[in-house]
Order: sequence, then structure tokens, then C-alpha cells
Amino acid sequence: MANPAQRATKLFVQTFGTTADELYQAPGRINIIGEHSDYNEGLVLPVAINFHTVIAVKHRDDYQFRAVSDAFPGQIEQWEFGNEGNIDDDGLWFNYLKGITAAMAQSGLSAKGLDLAIVGNVPLGAGLSSSAALEIAFGTAISYADQLHLSPLAIAQIAQRAESQLMRQQCGIMDQMISALAESDHALLIDCLALDSEPVKLPDSLSLIVIDPQIDRKKFTAQFAERRQECFEIADILGLDSLRDLTHLQLQRAKQSLTETQYHRALHVMTESQRTASAARALQENNMPRFSELMRHSQHSLRENFDAVDPQADKLVTLIDELIGDNGGVRMSDGCIIALVDHSLTDDVINLVEQAFFKQTGRDAVIHLCSASSGASRL
Ligand code: ADP
Ligand code: MG
Repeated sequence: MANPAQRATKLFVQTFGTTADELYQAPGRINIIGEHSDYNEGLVLPVAINFHTVIAVKHRDDYQFRAVSDAFPGQIEQWEFGNEGNIDDDGLWFNYLKGITAAMAQSGLSAKGLDLAIVGNVPLGAGLSSSAALEIAFGTAISYADQLHLSPLAIAQIAQRAESQLMRQQCGIMDQMISALAESDHALLIDCLALDSEPVKLPDSLSLIVIDPQIDRKKFTAQFAERRQECFEIADILGLDSLRDLTHLQLQRAKQSLTETQYHRALHVMTESQRTASAARALQENNMPRFSELMRHSQHSLRENFDAVDPQADKLVTLIDELIGDNGGVRMSDGCIIALVDHSLTDDVINLVEQAFFKQTGRDAVIHLCSASSGASRL
């Protein structure tokens, strides 16, 4: 099959009857460690993957935008810059684009229109952040096409504001930052409060395997929203802006004012940020036993403190963990299973997952062998 860039070029001609001027891309992502950390303003360690959203664009002389996506064939959506209408009620695909122009207009920016044909291979709604890939590819396209000279971080902030405040979808800043700022062969250690980030070289010896355990996404999204709300309430009780700065001492002192459940939720958030900083160091130092241990502890805390694992997927994580031992790490990230393992174990992990998943569900497993990609760019 043709790659997304070729397909976007073709879709543009088929839709608009003329050729596109330029192509832009942005990647999806997985998060190595730092689960439920971004909205708590803690540390995360995502990596952009070699699945991308590509947009073919042509400049217009007016302020109109027209967009088509191969994921929603036959629909052409049109709107005017700064005049997006109501976009906060339904999560429709084109609202991710309208959110970007609306957020830009709110920031006092002005941009001429574009015709857009969108094609991607980031699976939609599968935990690999197709929404951020779409937003960042579009934000990058406008920035270049209109010579706005926005930094990748500025584009990420606009996109996050678009998705969280204007569309009212629950998201932190991680997805947009990694899609905009990633470097190939590196993860990115992000401080979600300061919005600082530091590339972390991944050891060459590691394969990056992503397994979609096909969990019930509706249930997962509802549980995510519940945990997020719980965290905000705990921060409120403790008189903190977010759980980011919670210390061991503060947590022990506040134990009386929290329920048992709230205590465990806070414990996860606090320890997860510490594990994330340590995991970044372990990867930099190629210290695989330490990295394995931190990934294991993260999964354990997600299960025991945060009560946020799918039991069947958790069983798969345990099986993979037993197979790889100290030669890599495995855990759940945004409902997917991610395993960073020594190349020599890649086939064994894939075989194990294929057999175990089929035994569990009677279906074939969806497994992606990924590489760490760079962030958004003009192609
Ligand atoms: P995720 O970001 O984990 O894939 P979300 O629910 O946050 O899941 O975002 C998925 C939504 O983003 C899709 O339902 C669709 O509305 C929009 N989207 C993502 N990629 C595309 C695309 N290539 N074309 C059109 N819409 C897209
Ligand atoms: Mg998303």
C-alpha cells in the first residue's frame, strides 16, 4: 500500500481537482512511563512512534478552510478562520482542526485559509494519540504556510488548549508536546508544569513493541475521567494546585484527612513522577535491571494504588515480564501494552503475545514493532 504522503497527495487531487502545494506530518506516541502524570503536572517520558498523520495542503487567498480525511470518507468540512461555531459538544473529527484555528484566533493570530487532505496510519482511538498527531500536523502546516514562525512548543500549547478548553476533551500537554518536539531515537522527559523537556537517548539494543490488547475503550475513558477528577479533589483537600509537588512528609501528615482510596491515588501520582525521573536516567545509562524494576513498579502501582488496569491485559504484561526478566521493561500505557526489550527477545515476545492473546480472546493480537521518530515537520 502507498505510504500516507502518497495517499494524502492523491486524496487532495481527488477531492479538490488540483495538486497540493506542500505536505506536513506529525507522529503518534506511546508513553514509556509516567502514567496519569501529565494532568497532575508531573513528569512523563513519551516517545514519538513511526505512525504519522500527513496533511497535503494548498494555500488559499481568503480565510476559508476546507478539510477532507480518508478516515471519514466523503465528508468535506468548511469553516472560516476565527469563526468556528460550536465545537465543544461532540468530539467530531473536524473539530480537532477547528479547535486549532479557534485557539490561534483567541491568541490574536491571523491566518489565511488552506485546503487540506488528511491521511494517517495512527490508529484512531487506540491509545497512540491520533488526535494530537492531527492537531500538531495541522498547527505546523498553518505556522509554515502563513509564516507565523511558531515554535513547536507554542504549537503544542495551542493544540492542547484547543482540545482541552475549546473541545472540552480531557487531555494534558504530553501528547501535543511529544508530537511537536520529538527527536528520532530519543524519548522526551517532559516536566508538565514547567513545560521543560529533555531528549533521552534510547539504548540501541532495545526494540519498541506496542501491543493493543483491545480493551473496552469506553470503560477505559470513563475510568480515566474518574481518576482525573479524584486527583483534582485530593489536591483540593491538600490545598495544592496539583499533586505534582506532593512530598512523602506532606502525604503522611495529611493521611487523616484522606480516605484510604484517596491516599493510594496520591501515592501513585507522587511515586510515579519519581520513577519517571529514575527511568530516564536508567535508559541514559543503559541500566536495564533498574529500568525493568521501575517499569514493574509502575505497573504494580497502577494496579494496586490507582486501580486502573484491565485484568486481561495485566495478565499479558505479567507473562511478558516473566519472559524478559531484566532485559527490558513492560507496562500499560494509555490502555496499550508497551514493551522495550533487548532485540534478541523481540521474536519471543511477539510469539508469546500472539499465543496468549489468541488463547484469551480467540482473536489475533494487534502488535506494532515501532521505532522512535522525530516530531512534526514539513515533508
Ligand atoms: P487517540 O488520540 O488516542 O487516538 P482520541 O479519542 O483522543 O484517541 O482521538 C481520536 C479522534 O481524533 C478520532 O475519533 C477523530 O475524531 C480524530 N482523528 C484522529 N486522527 C484523525 C484523522 N487522520 N482524520 C480525521 N480525524 C482524526
Ligand atoms: Mg487523543
